[in-house]
Amino acid sequence: MAATEVAQSRRIVTGIPGPKSLAIQERRRSAVAQGVGSVLPVYVERAGGGIVEDVDGNALIDFGSGIAVANVGNADPRVVERAAEQLGRFTHTCFMVNPYEAYVDVCEALNRITPGDHEKRSVLLNSGAEAVENAVKVARSATGRQAVVVFDHAYHGRTNLTMGLTAKNMPYKQGFGPFAGEIHRMPMAYPYRWPTGPDRCGPEAAAMVADQITKQIGASNVAAVVIEPIQGEGGLIEPGAGFLPALAEFCRSNGIVFVADEVQTGFARTGHMFACEHEGVVPDLVATAKGIAGGLPLAAVTGRAELMDAVHGGGLGGTYGGNPAACAAALATLEAIGSDGLVERAREIGDLMLGRLRELAARYEVVGDVRGRGAMVAIELVRDGDRTPDPEALAKVLSYCHSRGLVLLSAGTYGNVIRMLPPLVIGDELLHEGLDLLEEAFAQL
Ligand SMILES: *Cc1c(COP(=O)(O)O)cnc(C)c1O
Repeated sequence: MAATEVAQSRRIVTGIPGPKSLAIQERRRSAVAQGVGSVLPVYVERAGGGIVEDVDGNALIDFGSGIAVANVGNADPRVVERAAEQLGRFTHTCFMVNPYEAYVDVCEALNRITPGDHEKRSVLLNSGAEAVENAVKVARSATGRQAVVVFDHAYHGRTNLTMGLTAKNMPYKQGFGPFAGEIHRMPMAYPYRWPTGPDRCGPEAAAMVADQITKQIGASNVAAVVIEPIQGEGGLIEPGAGFLPALAEFCRSNGIVFVADEVQTGFARTGHMFACEHEGVVPDLVATAKGIAGGLPLAAVTGRAELMDAVHGGGLGGTYGGNPAACAAALATLEAIGSDGLVERAREIGDLMLGRLRELAARYEVVGDVRGRGAMVAIELVRDGDRTPDPEALAKVLSYCHSRGLVLLSAGTYGNVIRMLPPLVIGDELLHEGLDLLEEAFAQL
């Protein structure tokens, strides 16, 4: 059954999780490492559009997209067909052994669609973390410098280098050190929690970061500044206006490579193809993954030709990087984003969701902040009439929504942010129904 045939309506026929899911969950306990979590352990049978169907026949509304991956849906028939056609010809040769055209096609496409019309090159990899690592490798190799600047609340992955770049200790770093050296953390322009208020956040934070880099590291020692244009795991933090442009300018005038980690924000998610476009920022290197290939594992670093080509031959690569089926899926995904108008659709989704969430914020004091762009929106929960994070309220809201068939994610350094990342192909009815459930959850608090 093709994914498009998955009926686009919520249907709950058992408890959540249902008996079949619970039975698999039981087997999982003695088979899968405990360190691997699952937000909502209903085991998936099929998925498509805005619906995830489980093995018990429940149909859940998807506000997660497998963490901003299924932007074009979980099994867009064009993506599936293109990948299947490729799989029928060959599964793997390794681009480093015998190359194939689809890899070149994907690089050309990325060079074309990423911000900036300068000459670019790309390298294909397997995961977001690997993309970020490779961006750092390129920046260090091209500049001959070592220091890397990252930010509070940042999330860049789970490999050793990217754990070091990631801010939050639990669960990502606890007990997994030591971490790589020459990583320097700076304050983030977090409007909701900026001491002098959201309006002054961007410029003040930018000045503070420039000052700290200069005084504490020495700008001429910095290879790269790595930043998510909207932080995802850290709590869906949109930097205060002006922060990113000022940071990019600081990098430019100091020979620092500006790396945008667009792993979560990329591929139409925020109502632009890439979130950097919102403020006209042109990064030197862009790390992408998640939404790139309609669910198949693929990642990339795309950037200025002179930086990318500074790396010696054989210095970049990997056995599976740019797997042919993933490349085929990426090409179909990029076409689908264009032909289905998903950049515009992301904006519509954002308008619909933010509108309703702001109404919610007006009614419930626990909703401290509503923010987001396109189909990447969040609400931050607080208590005591101030900004004290309220992770307990979040747990209750999530549990209410999960048990009624809404897949909803959390985020945030303080574990108090509800993050919504619906597939861009979800219909308005499902969006409204999901938001109805969320409203009910707040009414029950
Ligand atoms: C998910 C994510 C990563 C890591 O990607 P993986 O594919 O899980 O390695 C890196 N950066 C950001 C911003 C992410 O959201």
